[in-house]
Amino acid sequence: MSENNVLVEIQDLRVEFDVRAGVVKAVDGVSFDIKRGQTLGVIGESGCGKSITARAILQMVPKPGKITNGQVLYHRRARGATQTDIVNISKLDPDGQIIREIRGGEIGMIFQEPMSSLTPVYTAGTHIDEAVSLHRLTPLRKVGDQLAETIQAHRKVTKQEAREIAIAMLRRVGIPKPDQRVDSYPHQLSGGQRQRVMIAIALSCQPAMLIADEPTTALDVSIEAQILDIMRELQESVNMAIMFITHNLGVIAEMAEEIVVMYMGKQVERAKTVALFYEPMHPYTRALLQSIPVVGRKSRARLASIEGMVPDPFNLPPGCVFHPRCPAFMPGKCDKIAPTWKQLVGDHWVSCLLYQEV
Ligand code: SF4
Repeated sequence: MSENNVLVEIQDLRVEFDVRAGVVKAVDGVSFDIKRGQTLGVIGESGCGKSITARAILQMVPKPGKITNGQVLYHRRARGATQTDIVNISKLDPDGQIIREIRGGEIGMIFQEPMSSLTPVYTAGTHIDEAVSLHRLTPLRKVGDQLAETIQAHRKVTKQEAREIAIAMLRRVGIPKPDQRVDSYPHQLSGGQRQRVMIAIALSCQPAMLIADEPTTALDVSIEAQILDIMRELQESVNMAIMFITHNLGVIAEMAEEIVVMYMGKQVERAKTVALFYEPMHPYTRALLQSIPVVGRKSRARLASIEGMVPDPFNLPPGCVFHPRCPAFMPGKCDKIAPTWKQLVGDHWVSCLLYQEV
């Protein structure tokens, strides 16, 4: 893939939360690219920084978190154009015009369960940032109105045209009787249907990239399979990139071409999916993959639980942060020296002293 296929470049990104008990490095020096049309998987235990990295891409780090270093470069391209402008998202005003155009319109984001991330108050002043950019569903308004408003916020269409596009999108994501469902309230839909509506909202503006944070975790297997098919189909039709965050190893094996593994805010390994599943290098990745199914086989396999406790984020261990839990721990080395991010072969990168001269 050529360089000009790069859509988002994350360079040495750091996000910190300065709270009373100290400073938490939620994202600590993460760098990777996402290319047009590519699905990049991001895996790791809860609290490893996956979701905060995703939110940093949209300048949506929750307070008191803030980006303290690094940058997120977005190669912005008008629809149908070949020229790109590079926008440094990390330098944009989080409430400014440019990021509001990008959020929802050019980079969409969906969450695990739309009703669990409700926007309780949906006023004219707040709805665009909340419902449009986060693709949240509010309980008090018809799903068709929420979908149509997203479309109108990012595309020059009339109200009637937006409603027609909304019905077409509902049909495309497999909602039965879309011309009637368009006037339903979220509570009148099943969990699977709400998630499809949210995906319809996220995809209605044909974004260059979709950030999907555990998008199918709450759904049963058959609905999950349908939603993944819809995402793939739409990805092919508009060459959309997907950043796919999940605990489900079977899903990531099926969806992603490349995977980043994160631990305690750091990336510890990155490789093409097949290489990562068949030749994991980092002891943390190996531990995660212990329950791994064969690549390509549908599975609900989750991340294996790993021995030992996740360290206290206010009191990280010296040297390699994984050392208290690592089966390959080397006394005198791993507890003293922090490994660096090194390219091993091809696109395989790892941060572990097993592969470094010290
Ligand atoms: Fe394990 Fe040492 Fe590698 Fe860290 S640096 S993952 S402790 S072998």
